[in-house]
Amino acid sequence: HAKREGRNNTQFFTAALNESTAERLELERELRLAIDNGLLQLHYQPQICAADGKVHGVEALVRWAHPTLGAVSPAKFIPIAEESGLILPLGSWVLDTACRQAARWKAEGIEGLTVAVNLSAHQLRQPELIEQVQTILCRYALHGSDLELEITESVAMEDPQYAIKQLQALRGLDVQLSIDDFGTGYSSLAYLKLLPIQTLKLDRAFVRDIETDPNDAAISTATLALAHSLGLQVVAEGVENEAQRSFLAAHGCDRLQGYLFSRPEPAEVLSQRWKQEAIAVKTGV
Ligand code: C2E
Ligand code: MG
Ligand code: MG
Ligand code: MG
Repeated sequence: HAKREGRNNTQFFTAALNESTAERLELERELRLAIDNGLLQLHYQPQICAADGKVHGVEALVRWAHPTLGAVSPAKFIPIAEESGLILPLGSWVLDTACRQAARWKAEGIEGLTVAVNLSAHQLRQPELIEQVQTILCRYALHGSDLELEITESVAMEDPQYAIKQLQALRGLDVQLSIDDFGTGYSSLAYLKLLPIQTLKLDRAFVRDIETDPNDAAISTATLALAHSLGLQVVAEGVENEAQRSFLAAHGCDRLQGYLFSRPEPAEVLSQRWKQEAIAVKTGV
């Protein structure tokens, strides 16, 4: 009896595993098609200066509108892209598209906007990355400092010596560098000091309950103190309400990003909004 149950369980798990593998393979196939046929989109989420409320820049976030499944979350398809190697063509497309948009905003007279792009481990591992970034900056007549690249702690920790070498080369182009999701990885402080970065992005896991959970408040204020003493700026992720904003601003957080200010939006939506705001400022409406 036990034996039969055991076998049934095995069959059940095997079936479930096969199904998820098949689903993954299907998503991978469709993602490849979406990349090849230009069906991905970028949305952009503003980062706000905590001190004056002005837009510092935007983070580019990839979007995939699947013909039958609807919007597939990047949290689901980015890992598939990483495992299959599709992250390389996808990442190249994101870099190119985000930089083209940065140039468009400049042409529209929106000056000094930094466009941040997420970089995967696979991309950082490519020796060609530096030349690729340089080529794209040149293609759109951008300055290196118009671009910010975000890497997570685990990406930076994967092969620390090589990561440092690559990041230094990117700094040689004057590209800005930030550590994404800070606090969720396990980078040592000694190592952090060696990275040629300018910014830490405090993970939204700590921001969520910042005004009610003393531990989250302590982690956030300690991160701000650490970053500032290392000469780094801090961006808080996932700022959703006024209480979080005022806590972070009171504790010297440099930049804020989250639904309180804006969801990630298509470039045209932000352009339109910024134009209207500029008109409102001029006319005092
Ligand atoms: P991330 O880089 O940490 O991006 C921030 C995520 O937080 C985004 O999720 C954004 O929509 C979400 N977010 C922003 N403000 C709030 C808020 O106030 N509340 C909440 N609950 N969420 C907020 P999204 O767009 O789903 O992206 C998820 C992750 O997928 C990103 O996390 C990043 O790791 C990855 N990703 C997205 N686009 C790209 C890309 O072009 N390349 C690579 N390599 N990874 C990407
Ligand atoms: Mg990011
Ligand atoms: Mg993040
Ligand atoms: Mg995050």
